[in-house]
Amino acid sequence: MATQQQQPRVGYDDTPFIPGQKYRVHDSTRPQPRVVTPGTESTQERAGRPPSDAVILFDGTDLSGWVANPRSGSSDGPARWKVENGYMEVVPRSGGIRTREEFGDCQVHLEWAAPAEVVGNSQGRGNSGVFLMNRYEIQVLDCYDNPTYADGTTAAVYGQHPPLVNACRKPGEWQTYDIIWTAPRFDGERLVSPAYVTMFHNGVLVHNHREVLGPTAHRKVTPYEPHPPVGPLSLQDHGNPMRFRNIWYRPLNLHGQA
Ligand code: MG
Repeated sequence: MATQQQQPRVGYDDTPFIPGQKYRVHDSTRPQPRVVTPGTESTQERAGRPPSDAVILFDGTDLSGWVANPRSGSSDGPARWKVENGYMEVVPRSGGIRTREEFGDCQVHLEWAAPAEVVGNSQGRGNSGVFLMNRYEIQVLDCYDNPTYADGTTAAVYGQHPPLVNACRKPGEWQTYDIIWTAPRFDGERLVSPAYVTMFHNGVLVHNHREVLGPTAHRKVTPYEPHPPVGPLSLQDHGNPMRFRNIWYRPLNLHGQA
C-alpha cells in the first residue's frame, strides 16, 4: 500500500504540451502547489483567523504596524486612532493612518463597522476608505438605506466604478472586504499596465478585474502618475468613528503567472 512517505510517481511524461506552457498535460514534473492552512471565518462576535501565509497588519491588539498618514491630513508620527475590544476606531479629525508595510499585488482582507447609531446621510454617514498603495480608494461608507452618488457608494472604486451590487449590512454590524489587487506597472514615466481590482463585499462579488483609471480624486478623474512598485495601505479619517479589525494581506505576483 502506498504511503505519503514513499511519494509514488504521479502523472505522465508522454503527453502533449499545454499550449503556452512549459509543462505537459498531467506533467509528472510540475511542482505541487504550496500548502497554505486556511483561516477561519469571522462572526459578528469575533474576528476570524488569517490563513497561514498572511502578513498581519492589525490583529486587534495595537497599532504598532501603523503610522499617521501625511497624505491623508495627518502630520508625521504615531497613529492616533483608538484600539479597544479587538478593533481600531477612527478618532475623527485625527487624520488618516497607513501601514508600515508596503506592498504591490496582493490579496487584502479587512473588516469594518459603521456606528450603530446613524448620524448624517449620503457621504456624511459612516465614511472612511481603504487606499491601496496610499492612492487608490475603495470606498467605505454606510450605504444601508442611504442613497448617495453611485460611484461613491460602499465598495465603489471611488469616483470611477460603482460596485456591481450594494451588499451592505446594517450599521453596527461587521462587514468584510476581500480585495485582489493588481498594481499598476510603470516603465519610467510611462504607464505599462493599469491597476485592476477584483473584490468581494460580505462574500458578494462587487468588482471583477475592474480597471482602475488613475489615483483617486474628488470631482474629477486624474491620470496615473508613476510611483514605486510597492506602497502602504491606508485608511481614511472622514470624520466618522468607523471601526476596523482583522486586517491582513497575502503578497502576490499577478503578472508573473502563466
Ligand atoms: Mg471615503
